[in-house]
Amino acid sequence: MGVLRIGPALTIGQVTVERVEELRIPNPIGHFTQDAALVEANRHWLAPHWLDDAGVMDLVFQSFVFEIEGRVVLVDPCTGNGRPNVMPMFDQLDVPFVERIEAAGWRPQDVDIVVCTHLHHDHCGWNTCLRGDKWVPTFPKARYVMQQAEVDRWGRERHLHKPFDMNDGVFERSVQPVLEAGLAELVAGSRAIAPGLAVELAPGHTAGHQMLSVTSAARRALFTGDAFHHPLQLVDPAIPFGWPEDQVVIADLRRRLVERAANEDLLLVAAHLDAPHGIKVSRAGDRLAFTASACA
Ligand SMILES: [Zn+2]
Repeated sequence: MGVLRIGPALTIGQVTVERVEELRIPNPIGHFTQDAALVEANRHWLAPHWLDDAGVMDLVFQSFVFEIEGRVVLVDPCTGNGRPNVMPMFDQLDVPFVERIEAAGWRPQDVDIVVCTHLHHDHCGWNTCLRGDKWVPTFPKARYVMQQAEVDRWGRERHLHKPFDMNDGVFERSVQPVLEAGLAELVAGSRAIAPGLAVELAPGHTAGHQMLSVTSAARRALFTGDAFHHPLQLVDPAIPFGWPEDQVVIADLRRRLVERAANEDLLLVAAHLDAPHGIKVSRAGDRLAFTASACA
């Protein structure tokens, strides 16, 4: 059937994280920064996975799926099939995404918790799928964990924000049906959601953006959503990319992420980062050292 089988992506203590890809878009480094000296100074840990010989990094649209303490968790369910989008690469996708989840070992009804770091089209699309002419939850037994502030931002408070046409219709197709089905677990701020799992409010990219902390056997990873897109944004937090709603707040968030990763031995896992998906930060004297890693 042509199903793409993807091997384990990450290890967090006793948790093995699988990755389900929807699509990837090559991005020349020039889309992120024009600072050639910065790129060269970091080439040793970026290449080859996040900087190939042509100076390109794939932005990967993917969900992370894993089981922890008997619960199946899916993080950031991509864009979804059959939806209009002003960006041609996201318009009317037809990807065997659910089949890929099944190839990784889980049926949609096995998923217990869906976490949307935020409600851009590429982080909540597969919340739902089309049955007949109706959008219905793809994961019928899941709690969908979203921030109340994010649901408000795209719902009743949308008029307070600048229009963002890439997200037109996303709330109606991918969020409203989950709310109506009673499957949404709306969180205000930061808190534990299950053993080993906690969400943290981390605005900047969007008003109600959150991250997911996963702890197993004293190892910890932080799924940082779109807090950063390119690893260099941890080195220079002010590099703009991906339509952040508040560039000052997101730059400060990146600074704090780097500090925490160094102080707490955290693995940072950005939503769109290709293998090995994670970044570790350590101190070498008074300097910070970054390492690509698939292991918390
Ligand atoms: Zn995104």
